[in-house]
Amino acid sequence: MFIPGHAPENEGQDKCYIPVSQGQVLCSDTEGWRPITSNIWRFANPQLDATTHYIGCYFEQDCYVVLLDELPDVHEHSWFNLYQLLGLLSEIDYEVAARAVQIVNWERDHQFCGRCGTPTQNHDKELAKRCEPCDMLFYPRLSPCVITVITRGEECLLAHNPAFPARFFSALAGFIEVGETIESALRREVAEEVGIKVGKLEYFGSQSWPFPGQLMIGFLAEYESGDIVVDGVEIEEADWFRFDELPMIPPPSSLAGKLIREFVKRNEGQ
Ligand SMILES: [Zn+2]
Repeated sequence: MFIPGHAPENEGQDKCYIPVSQGQVLCSDTEGWRPITSNIWRFANPQLDATTHYIGCYFEQDCYVVLLDELPDVHEHSWFNLYQLLGLLSEIDYEVAARAVQIVNWERDHQFCGRCGTPTQNHDKELAKRCEPCDMLFYPRLSPCVITVITRGEECLLAHNPAFPARFFSALAGFIEVGETIESALRREVAEEVGIKVGKLEYFGSQSWPFPGQLMIGFLAEYESGDIVVDGVEIEEADWFRFDELPMIPPPSSLAGKLIREFVKRNEGQ
């Protein structure tokens, strides 16, 4: 169990550590992933003076992320990035590892006030950095994104992005812009990327997507009108696929993968 937090509540309780460096997380070669114990860290760590940041309570241990500049060799441990860990860790452990990496990014990116350039200080109660002269707070940056699978009876619309491996199709996704609701962003993205108008939207679920700090908000969207016209930039190819004739799709560890499987499940049940 993991309870995110900003400051340890019981000083003196056992501690555990998640060393993070260059976007990578230290993982045991011999056991499943978990934050490493004080003993292992003390024994292995060449950078004991590294900055640490409390991130929450992991199975009744105070859990700290350790910010490192290099990737030190640690006996029977290896470094993995979050892409490599996706689908390998339980959802809770992935959330913890992703939180650790995102907090490190925030530490690095908000050392100075963006308005006046003064060095920032950690807020004592919140996960925020503060500029005293400006009285401004800087929180870890979270970028909301909407992701959707458009459905039309037994078919769904999936798209191929030039950055994907060949023949790999996924849901449509895009960032929500300032001033937009989630729903208006979804309708705009779909219209821009594939030229389709969607009708009824059904909220499905959300997922933290730490690449580098997205919150994915997933919907099933019913087709209303229009023919597919791809934008040629973000989307190279898009098509309707029957639920039992899908191309290569994302794994179930991603929200896109979950959305597509939900569409399939509903059609198989009929
Ligand atoms: Zn300032």
